[in-house]
Amino acid sequence: MNRRDFLKVATVGSALGLVTVTKTVSAAVTGFPMPQVRPKVKDGDLDDYLQKVRQFDEDHVGDVYFDEYNWGLLKSSLERFVRMQRVVGHGNFYLLDFDDALQLAKTYPSVGEFTIPELNFLETLFYEQAAIYGFYGEKPLKNLTDRIPLREVVKVPDSGNYLYRGKPVETFEAIRKILGPEVILTSGVRSVIKQFYLFLNKAYVSGGNLSRASRSLAPPGYSFHGISDFDVGQAGFGQHNFTERFVTSNVYKTLRGLGYLTLRYPRDNLLGVRFEPWHIKVGTRV
Ligand SMILES: [Zn+2]
Repeated sequence: MNRRDFLKVATVGSALGLVTVTKTVSAAVTGFPMPQVRPKVKDGDLDDYLQKVRQFDEDHVGDVYFDEYNWGLLKSSLERFVRMQRVVGHGNFYLLDFDDALQLAKTYPSVGEFTIPELNFLETLFYEQAAIYGFYGEKPLKNLTDRIPLREVVKVPDSGNYLYRGKPVETFEAIRKILGPEVILTSGVRSVIKQFYLFLNKAYVSGGNLSRASRSLAPPGYSFHGISDFDVGQAGFGQHNFTERFVTSNVYKTLRGLGYLTLRYPRDNLLGVRFEPWHIKVGTRV
């Protein structure tokens, strides 16, 4: 794949407030399109920035999109991940690493081998600095082939999810002791592959807008679900567990009152990520 064509940058907003992609960044001079990387938001940009993260699921001027070629690769890779998840089941898919996924795709005709352009696409997306499309968080999983050590995780009954042994499990058990079945584990350990699937799916429903996708979901490698963090929800609250309505739940209020809600992505954080009141920051495993 020609890395130069990887991204498009939207530069002009339409009268309707919709972002229009107007130009493909040419890398003839720079070698690769590198929109300015801003590790921290400067004062002058703050209002603009906050508007974006508060209206996280909308297109904004300056958002970065996949170009047409990579949009095609996004779709074909995503479809392959969907078929793969069907073959291995949801539980195993949470833990699947890159090498095993490649092998599995090769073995099962119903999944089909990844093409070279797809592999280049996935590799470029993984190793590209997410800051170029507006995600400023850390990257706990540095290698595409990083594995979830199976001995270090446990399946949490009735949740379909896994947690790392040590502090993550202990934290969840403590929470469970306080709230009982009212609190549920909505997402635990997620491998690079699972994060790829979630992120590509979000980018797909966002029309190829990488910036918009990364305001809701950490790009592959950047998710702390890969090393420790997890999401909690209120039983029976359904999709509201992933909206701001979660702050009205008893689970949120109780955990907040007890100091359990150390959030990875607090309101108006400067990491380029929406407010996620359900995402518990564990940090280290031990
Ligand atoms: Zn989370």
